[in-house]
Amino acid sequence: MAHIPYPPSYYAASANPAPLRDELQADIQADVCIVGAGYTGLSSALFLLEQGFSVAIVEAARVGFGASGRNGGQIVNSYSRDIDVIERSVGARHAQLFGEMAFEGGRIIRERVARYNIACDLKDGGVFAALGAKQMGHLEAQKRLRERYGHQQLELLDRVRIRDVVGSDHYVGGLLDLSGGHIHPLNLALGEAAAVESLGGRIFEQSPATRIERGANPVVHTARGKVRAKFVIVAGNAYLGNLVPELAAKSMPCGTQVIATEPLDEALARSLLPQDYCVEDCNYLLDYYRLSADNRLIFGGGVVYGARDPANIEAIIRPKLLKVFPQLAKVKVEFAWTGNFLLTLSRLPQVGRLGDTVYYSQGCSGHGVTYTHLAGKILAEALRGQAERFDAFASLPHYPFPGGRALGAPLTALGAWYYTLRDKLGV
Ligand SMILES: Cc1cc2nc3c(=O)[nH]c(=O)nc-3n(C[C@H](O)[C@H](O)[C@H](O)COP(=O)(O)OP(=O)(O)OC[C@H]3O[C@@H](n4cnc5c(N)ncnc54)[C@H](O)[C@@H]3O)c2cc1C
Repeated sequence: MAHIPYPPSYYAASANPAPLRDELQADIQADVCIVGAGYTGLSSALFLLEQGFSVAIVEAARVGFGASGRNGGQIVNSYSRDIDVIERSVGARHAQLFGEMAFEGGRIIRERVARYNIACDLKDGGVFAALGAKQMGHLEAQKRLRERYGHQQLELLDRVRIRDVVGSDHYVGGLLDLSGGHIHPLNLALGEAAAVESLGGRIFEQSPATRIERGANPVVHTARGKVRAKFVIVAGNAYLGNLVPELAAKSMPCGTQVIATEPLDEALARSLLPQDYCVEDCNYLLDYYRLSADNRLIFGGGVVYGARDPANIEAIIRPKLLKVFPQLAKVKVEFAWTGNFLLTLSRLPQVGRLGDTVYYSQGCSGHGVTYTHLAGKILAEALRGQAERFDAFASLPHYPFPGGRALGAPLTALGAWYYTLRDKLGV
C-alpha cells in the first residue's frame, strides 16, 4: 500500500532516528489490539505490557503521525474544562477522583522519560498568561480550586512578575505551573514506541484498521492482516474517520496550526522566555508558544472546524506571533504545519466501552498531552478489572453533535465566533 509519511513539520525534520515498521500482513493474536500509535495508544500499550498483557498496535501511518507528533509540545495539566465544571456534571466521589488525577498525566510523562531514557528535550514550567482582569480572576479561582485537591505547586504572577518569564507587554499576569513544561512531542512518541517494543509489544505501521469485529472475541482487520484479541482499544482520535460510527457522531475533528521560526540567537531567545517555560494564553481560541531545544520559537494557534488544511498557515499564525513579540518582525518562519485534535461538545474527553471488549478514549479537545498519558493508565487499569477511575471518566456525559459532523462544523464555528467576540471584549 502507499506509504504515508510524516507531515513536513519541524518535529519530523528533527526527529530521533526511528525504524520504518512493517505493515501487518498476517493473522496474529494478542491479548490487546490497539488502533492508533499516538500517545493514547502508546501509553495504554506501555501500562498493559508492564502488567503482563501481550499487545499489538496497528497504526494507519507512522508512530506519532497524528496530533501526538505535531502538537505544541506543552505539558498542560488538568483537563480542557476545569474541575468545577466536572464537579457540576458528576457526583462528589467522582469529582474527588478527577481532582486527584488532574496533575497525574504530567507525572506519568516524566516517569516514562526517566524510566525509558527518552530523549525529548523535557523542560519544566508552564505559564497560563492572562490578557485582562477577568482572565486573571479566573486564574486566581483556578489556583484556589486546584489547591482544594492538594495541588500546591501553582504560583500567581502579577503584572511585574510575568515580565520576568515572558518578554512581552501583552499580559496583565499569569499562573505558573512548575509541574507543567514542554517536550519535543514526536520524539516522546518515538521513545515510547521503542519502549513498547523493548517490552515485547508489536507495532505495525502503514496498517489502517478497516473494520473491527466486536463481540466476545474481537478481531481488528487491516488490508492484509488481522489481529485476534481479547480486548480492543480504539485510540485513533481525530484521525479515526468513520471506523466506529458511534464515536464519529459525538466528536468533531478540528485543525490547528503551528509555525517554527529559524533558530534565534541565544540572547534574543532568552529575552523572550528567560526561564524557558512554555506559555499559553487564556483565550478560548488560544495562542501557545515555547522555545525548541535549538532556540526556535514554536508558536501555535488558530482553529479550523471540520479539519480542512488552510492554504497559508504562516499568514494565519505570524500576525498572532507579532502581537505578542513585535520584536520578531524580521525573523523567518522555517516550518509551518497543521494537525487535528478532536473536539467534543462538552470539551471533556469521552471514555467508555462498546460492548464488553472494545474500549475507547478520545476527544480531549486541544489539551491532550497529559490527559492521553493518564488515559493509557486508566484503560489498562480497567482491562485488569480495576475500573473505578475508568468509571469516573465514563460517567462524564457525552453529547452528539447536532446534525452530525457535516452540520456540526458550521455550528461549532458559530460557537467559536461567539467565544472570539467574548475574548476580544474581555467579557
Ligand atoms: C497542532 C496541535 C497542537 C496541539 N498542542 C497541544 C499542546 O501543546 N498541549 C496539549 O496538551 N495538547 C495539544 N494538542 C492536543 C494533543 O496533541 C492531542 O490531544 C493528543 O496528542 C491526542 O493523542 P491521541 O493518541 O489520542 O491521538 P493522535 O496522536 O492523533 O493519534 C491517533 C493515531 O491513530 C491513528 N489512526 C487513526 N485511525 C486509524 C485506523 N483506522 N487504523 C490505525 N490507526 C489509526 C492515526 O494515524 C494517529 O497516529 C495539540 C493538537 C494539535 C493537533
